[in-house]
Amino acid sequence: MYYYVEIKRMENKNMGKTLIFGHKNPDTDSITSSIVMANLEKKLGNDAEACRLGNINKETEYVLNYLGIEAPRLIEDAEDGTEVILVDTSNPGESIPNLENVQIKKVIDHHRVALTTAYPLYFRTEPVGCTETVMYKLYKENGVEIDKTIATLMVSAIISDTLLFKSPTCTAEDEATAKELAKIAEIDIDKYGMDMLKAGTDLSSFSIEEILNLDAKQTSLKDKNSIIAQVNTASIDEVLKMKADLETGMKKIIAEKGLDLFMFVITDIVESNSKAIVLGNSASIAEKAYNEKIIDNVIELKGVVSRKKQIVPIMIENA
Ligand code: MG
Ligand code: MG
Ligand code: MG
Repeated sequence: MYYYVEIKRMENKNMGKTLIFGHKNPDTDSITSSIVMANLEKKLGNDAEACRLGNINKETEYVLNYLGIEAPRLIEDAEDGTEVILVDTSNPGESIPNLENVQIKKVIDHHRVALTTAYPLYFRTEPVGCTETVMYKLYKENGVEIDKTIATLMVSAIISDTLLFKSPTCTAEDEATAKELAKIAEIDIDKYGMDMLKAGTDLSSFSIEEILNLDAKQTSLKDKNSIIAQVNTASIDEVLKMKADLETGMKKIIAEKGLDLFMFVITDIVESNSKAIVLGNSASIAEKAYNEKIIDNVIELKGVVSRKKQIVPIMIENA
């Protein structure tokens, strides 16, 4: 009887697909890297499926529509014991709630390492601007062809994460890789890139709550519990027309989650500048960090576009 149970369990395990997903509030890199990694795994003979941990944003929707492909399957968690591959994050706080009960086979990422496991795994992280820049190398190393669709997915994410090479997170390698991929994708990178980024600035179909959550990251600033959210726009003033409603929504989330600070960063992708609405008892961290006054809950962030490089570390330093 026991043998039977054991054998059954092994069969199930072998039949199970490897699920591949990025972070919650997925961006173009998380979605495309899941699809691109699933394709690579399949080419290497492994059964894999791209998944996502949240809604598709407008920018990613533009990419998927351009290619006429479906969004990955939405999941909330994975059954205990499932084999998974994480892309574009290794942070358990941004992943499925039962991450400690699944088997992490691989991590492909470009963020700080935020994970330890009790078992060995393939862990590939490089300090580049986008997961897809690493993915490109994985394809080359494995001798797997990058077709037009895969190239378009890859280049779209590099454009997204680097804001068309203008973000300080962008490396020479990201730019060179994107330009190679643009040839395979047969796109004019500047035109396609701007159209794609602009598609991502359309907030018209979202509620205030959704806008605040589109690209929100829960971040600890030393002992301060905070959320730093970001939206891209072609006009900061246009987004600030919703300021009163955004503030009401932010206050509600601060109360619900017991936050010390909520920073909502509005980034002008054309001018490469940001302003942020800052609320919470620890809002003054932002004043210290940028040596700027918060006026009417808004702070100027001159030349700031990257949360990862120009906001999070500076805010932590000044917390
Ligand atoms: Mg990401
Ligand atoms: Mg990324
Ligand atoms: Mg991002």
